Amino acid sequence: MALGKDYATQQCSIARALEVVGERWTLLVVRDAFYGVRRYNDFLLHLGAPRAVLAARLQALVEAGVLDRHRYQEAPPRDEYLLTERGIALWPVLRSLGLWGREAQPGAVPMRHFHHVDCGTEVGPYGECPACRIPVHPADIEMRPGAGLDPDPADPVGRALLAPRRLLVPLETGRV
Ligand SMILES: [Zn+2]
Repeated sequence: MALGKDYATQQCSIARALEVVGERWTLLVVRDAFYGVRRYNDFLLHLGAPRAVLAARLQALVEAGVLDRHRYQEAPPRDEYLLTERGIALWPVLRSLGLWGREAQPGAVPMRHFHHVDCGTEVGPYGECPACRIPVHPADIEMRPGAGLDPDPADPVGRALLAPRRLLVPLETGRV
């Protein structure tokens, strides 16, 4: 039987969410957008996804209202992709998924840490601050490198992401 391209028979909101974020690379594009990646070439460098696939994923995320496309240069035309509110609402999903993935690898050393800027506490599995007992907006989270992170990544985006930085702050790599 051919594999259907959607979950039309599923009356389920998880299936509906997977229509948007269930394809390979999609959630990693969203993750990088939280890290401040905005430009096609930067996504390309950091993800190593095939060009056509990356373009299709960005387009699908724009159509789904997860990313906004914004032209920052006319000649040659260059676009940036920014998370919408709907996209930012995926943060607790990514946080939980990351911790779940780490649990699947006993002994794995964290690659990144996420701290509430106001108090310095590491945010919990749902993006909440255990000390302040509030859900923390990603803009109030600082990402810090963990011991498991490659200290010398091959790509400039990976290198720029070695320094502690707030989520959602545009990443400047000096590239267009
Ligand atoms: Zn806090």
